[in-house]
Amino acid sequence: MKPAWCLAFVCAIGPAAAAAEITGAELDAAAASLDARVVAWRRDFHRNPELANREFRTSAKVAEHLRAIGLEVRTGMAHTGVVAVIEGALPGPAILLRADMDALPVTEQTDVPFKSVATAEFRGRTVGVMHACGHDAHTAMLMGAAEILAGMRDRLPGKVLLVFQPAEEGVPEGEQGGAPMMLDEGLLAIAKPEAAFSLHVGSSLPTGAIALRPGPLMAGSDFFRIVVTGRQTHGSRPWSGIDPIVAASSIVVAAQTIVSRDLDLTAAPAVVTVGAINGGVRHNIIPGQVEMLGTIRTFSEADRTKVIERLRTITTSVATAHGASATLEMMPDPNPVLVNDPDLTGTVTASLQRAFGASAIRTSSLLTVAEDYAHIAQAVPSVYWWVGVTPAAQDPAGAPDNHSDLFFVDEAGLQVGLRSLLHVAVDYLQAQPR
Ligand SMILES: [Zn+2]
Ligand SMILES: [Zn+2]
Repeated sequence: MKPAWCLAFVCAIGPAAAAAEITGAELDAAAASLDARVVAWRRDFHRNPELANREFRTSAKVAEHLRAIGLEVRTGMAHTGVVAVIEGALPGPAILLRADMDALPVTEQTDVPFKSVATAEFRGRTVGVMHACGHDAHTAMLMGAAEILAGMRDRLPGKVLLVFQPAEEGVPEGEQGGAPMMLDEGLLAIAKPEAAFSLHVGSSLPTGAIALRPGPLMAGSDFFRIVVTGRQTHGSRPWSGIDPIVAASSIVVAAQTIVSRDLDLTAAPAVVTVGAINGGVRHNIIPGQVEMLGTIRTFSEADRTKVIERLRTITTSVATAHGASATLEMMPDPNPVLVNDPDLTGTVTASLQRAFGASAIRTSSLLTVAEDYAHIAQAVPSVYWWVGVTPAAQDPAGAPDNHSDLFFVDEAGLQVGLRSLLHVAVDYLQAQPR
């Protein structure tokens, strides 16, 4: 109906412009019609997983697809990363959509018909390779979103920077890669996005559910190496040497007091984990050295600094108390805290509620896992959300976790993830003043 104030010549333009808006129903129909292909892409990636910085086949498939839908493609960013820009015909800002492509050194134990039997070299050993974190699903969903958005580009405002990122799970020793390397190589200069979005599939949510929260969502992660040096001697005569095993044990126990005694646990949780202790070769030799590897998870820079400082003091002081010496080495490339921009999270939550209904959208708890997309979220206001992939009939609490050799993706969740990307992207771009 024409508003009363409407002059004939204005109304000739007005309704036409309104009709050009991309609707949610259109996005849902496009996603549904692409469902079988997204599933097929995901199964192909699942059957052919590749480890971090080795995503050669995966990135070639992605690049081939992006070229086929008419995009100019940049390959080889951060080794195997693939980037393309969808140029909307209407003026507007740029946004970034990101998927990760790498798999894990896990031997698949599921019985899906497209189960991976791939192997690869990892730390000098032959290991099974599996998409045990669902990055196959992420890549397939973003390929789908790319095709649908590119198909609507004559009515799309702004630009969409598509980022297919390698090596989210961490790079092989001595290599660089992942989100920080893409940023170093000028990722954001390609389209200067003013907002960035990404998602992850998760076993702890039922299919149909989406979870997010404003502010910190996932922890910052640091990795450390402690070397305790004593003096080797006979196991029957400990007094003639210095036992680094007893000193290392005391360091592990004392390190547990950092979280329980030194941090304000009402503000945010934190974790200090020693995941590996290596020292000694037989029962009657006290070794000269013990090496320990571990990780720290925190939700603020202040907590992170405090934990590292306390761990350093404990490491050196406890070793000294045992007559040993010890060093704490912080490994390079920590992941920052993944922070969802509060205002943008409100906008995204409203989009997701419109698309899926309010009851499907949950508030995530703080997650102590980490994500290298946090580097992108530090550079651009960003929102990251979790998409459930555990079948409704199953209790998510009992579902094999991400990284399990039994990790299972309910493919109905691919539609949810794809639709979430489309709705968030199009709602954001169409809401901007032009
Ligand atoms: Zn993972
Ligand atoms: Zn992951």
